[in-house]
Amino acid sequence: MTPRGAELAGYQGQPGSFSARAAARCGKPVAFPTFERTLRALLAGEIACAVLPAVNRVDGPILESLDALARSLAELESAIAVEAEIEVPVRLVLAAPEGLALESVREVHSQAAVLRQCRHLLARLDAIPIDTHDTAYAAFRVKEAGGPRAAVCSEEAALEAGLLILEEDVSDVRPNTTRFWRLARAGATADAVPGDDVAPDSLAPRVVFYAGVRASSALAEAGAELLSLPGTPGDPVRGFAVVPEKNVARAAAGTGRPAAGERVIWLGPAPEFVRPPRMRDLPKVTEVREPSFVAVGPFVVGGGHRAVIAGPCAVESPEQVARLARAVARAGATALRGGVFKPRTSPYSFQGHGLEALGWLKDAGDAAGLPIVTEVMAPAQVVPVAERADVLQIGARNCQNYDLLKEAGRSSRPVFLKRGFGTTVEEWLSSAEYLLDAGCKNVILCERGIRTFEKATRGTLDLGGLLVARSLTHLPLFADPSHAAGRRDLVPGLARAAWGAGVDGLMIEVHDAPESALSDGPQALLPEDLEELLDEFGILPGASGSVERIRRAIDVVDGGIARLAAQRLELARRVGAVKKASGRPIRDEAREASVRARFAEALGGDTPGATRLADTLIDLALEAEKPGDA
Ligand code: PEP
Ligand code: MN
Repeated sequence: MTPRGAELAGYQGQPGSFSARAAARCGKPVAFPTFERTLRALLAGEIACAVLPAVNRVDGPILESLDALARSLAELESAIAVEAEIEVPVRLVLAAPEGLALESVREVHSQAAVLRQCRHLLARLDAIPIDTHDTAYAAFRVKEAGGPRAAVCSEEAALEAGLLILEEDVSDVRPNTTRFWRLARAGATADAVPGDDVAPDSLAPRVVFYAGVRASSALAEAGAELLSLPGTPGDPVRGFAVVPEKNVARAAAGTGRPAAGERVIWLGPAPEFVRPPRMRDLPKVTEVREPSFVAVGPFVVGGGHRAVIAGPCAVESPEQVARLARAVARAGATALRGGVFKPRTSPYSFQGHGLEALGWLKDAGDAAGLPIVTEVMAPAQVVPVAERADVLQIGARNCQNYDLLKEAGRSSRPVFLKRGFGTTVEEWLSSAEYLLDAGCKNVILCERGIRTFEKATRGTLDLGGLLVARSLTHLPLFADPSHAAGRRDLVPGLARAAWGAGVDGLMIEVHDAPESALSDGPQALLPEDLEELLDEFGILPGASGSVERIRRAIDVVDGGIARLAAQRLELARRVGAVKKASGRPIRDEAREASVRARFAEALGGDTPGATRLADTLIDLALEAEKPGDA
């Protein structure tokens, strides 16, 4: 939700600057000459929000803008709220008018904070740093003035000013980013939009202004990031603190009663206010908080962890479920499914082997090292099933069986709640609210296809509904492509679509003799189909995988590496051709260093091992790019 998307977002600087880029992500950008003027426009209601650079990855707190903010707070107390933090990549280039060689640069123009982000470059060039108003302005100044002058700015600003790029990515630390704060007038924030049940889509950072030694140490103890500012005669120790959401209560307690002469101002909802849920009627399921996650042994989902539950539709015999448990564990699934009570449309169809089969399922799971997931259809089944099952499933047909939801919610087991094929997203979330309200700590939601006019598939996998649910709830979200498709051939495609849409996990039915399965045979994947699919998603094979199985997974990874390497070579050829055509030097050392740093970061950060591997890979790539080798 972007309630003020089309409204005015003020920033200091001019078009082409990084601030302008940040502002464009908040509304229609409006330029102001100074930070003070931007803040005044905000308080006067001329603009809906103001966007201020707060912290740079290389240089730390941006003193100029934070100082302006601190000064206006001193006058206006808590009239300003930080609504969101926006991270903007800062790719700085060194640019100059045509004809100026790198060695001849004697002055480098840019904003003070930006000049501090490229000290290595300044040292290497032996040039004088000249502080200008903003990066885009520096580019225009340099173009106008000519001579041995270059500017550090964005590529966009350099091109706009008609400069040529002498060196790319000149920040001392790469990749470089700046975190901007979106500021609003307190009380005019999205939380307070009247008649609107939905709160903002992201957690606002909890920012506090502090003045005083005691306040600053209490905030530091609460794990806050301190952005300290140079002192003033009135406030020798002052700055801003960014408090992690989970430590808000601690920070509030620690700074609750500031010592004499000290001050603490929360820029946004004060900590004593409970953050309103996204939907008023569903306070638990739509609570604004970090993503919740569920962990049962190797089965971990939510908050970035993704998992696959696989197994047969129904537990048919001890041997059948033991075989399939081994097969899905080898493929990489981290939980085993299997129905012992089966909801069937016809009373004459196989109804499940009941509690006896629960023992078979449990033994199979134990032998394969997998927790088990099985469906309960009636309140009376909850207690006996919860004795042995690790996760209770509530099926589509029972999504709105409130007595069952209450009983399942009271058991101590996690509950896997499928969306009914005739329930709206809101009704589905309401059912989850019943579970949470009954005391269930671990709820997982699963979209499994809704009923539409389409008859070619068993259901219609509602990915749009899943994404709506994602925007409303912190609970882990699964998709079940098997019941949505009803046909084996469509399952991998739907699974890919759901995985691409960002689900936390998939539930997939698997059978090794689908023709003779007692239920849902036509939609069951063969174990080898599951292996292929999970390899594609980069899910590691189970520890019990054979050498052959693990080699198949390795082959898939190798195929991906080879394809990406070929694509990279082609891109390198193209950038070479473009540089040649525009007369730019082919070799760019700063760019090379930035690519190496990015590789090292992706490979595990600043360790010697990661750096060595990154260097080796880039050396190989450069070697392969040499003309004549193509
Ligand atoms: C099942 O998972 O076996 C099942 C019956 O699913 P659904 O409730 O989604 O139809
Ligand atoms: Mn089924």
